[in-house]
Amino acid sequence: MTEELNVLDYRRTDLYGHLLGIFTKLNILSTLNITASQLLDFLIDVDVSYHPTPYHSFYHAADIVVILYYMLNELDAKHYLTNKQIAVLMISAICHDIGHPGFNNDFQTKTKSDLASYYHNQSILESQSIDITIDLLRKHSLLDETDLLQDLILATDMAFHYDLLEDVNQLEEETWSAGWNDDQRRRFARILLHAADISNTVRPWPISKQWSDLIVREFFRQGDAEKTAGLTVSTGMDRDLDTQASISLRFTEGIVQPYFQSLATLLPKARRWLVALEENKVHWQDLKAATPLAASLGHDTRVSMPAGTITVLSNPLQHLIKPVRIMRTSSHSTALVSPPSSELKRSHSSSLRHS
Ligand SMILES: [Zn+2]
Repeated sequence: MTEELNVLDYRRTDLYGHLLGIFTKLNILSTLNITASQLLDFLIDVDVSYHPTPYHSFYHAADIVVILYYMLNELDAKHYLTNKQIAVLMISAICHDIGHPGFNNDFQTKTKSDLASYYHNQSILESQSIDITIDLLRKHSLLDETDLLQDLILATDMAFHYDLLEDVNQLEEETWSAGWNDDQRRRFARILLHAADISNTVRPWPISKQWSDLIVREFFRQGDAEKTAGLTVSTGMDRDLDTQASISLRFTEGIVQPYFQSLATLLPKARRWLVALEENKVHWQDLKAATPLAASLGHDTRVSMPAGTITVLSNPLQHLIKPVRIMRTSSHSTALVSPPSSELKRSHSSSLRHS
């Protein structure tokens, strides 16, 4: 098992088997006292509850599980978490974008969607993922205590990126290893999940490029919808103004690189990812030079899609949506361009502790 494993090459059934293997190797079945068939039933339900969006699909979630497994085993991260925390982290990973419609939190807020209303414009999609996940966990009798799971999924809201970055540096100054208390281990789990969630640009180039194709396709689809609705197009989502290379370079240099540089102080073996990141930047710079302005992915451009992707799927989740109060709102695109406001920092600390 290496970081070079590409889930996009897997058919669904093979992917289920692969995920079962990861959960088994991490002793999650024994930790949670569940059977393999119980976990498989859960994974299938999770898959069905994801939408067939270009990027935020079950395949993205499976990729995050693969990368976390790599971080736990190959980058030595597992020594700093308990077995129970590892189990919750991996379940959070496979569920963290469940129900994502492919249009981000800002879009939900701008369009005054039902979801935005349900969740009071606060971490809308993450809150929805938490609710769907808890319902599925109950249905499959997998996990009773969900505080950590809620905390972890909520922290995948990109609005908290800069707070997590600050926390990486803070943790590095605090006592390591056996000296860590439970709160420090929870913070570390948040940091790991977010790292995995933004890890596309530190992957080997062919994998990195495929994920970029998918996220850009989703961004431009949202940009098109915003234009159609007469709304201001979100930053980095206008196919007439942005290129795939410029979007990727901006995200790499502004978000991923500083985060992984800090992460490498906590997990020294993560330095290998900084090398991959630099190599990928060269690819993007070459592509940027070759792609003057017009969008690099047009409406009709064919891009990579996961093997076995379901192309027609009704929304099976409406009956699961119910109102809760969890704070914050933001989006991928906000984090691309905006440093955190003091307001964001205040609400972050309260909201992460809220769950
Ligand atoms: Zn994600």
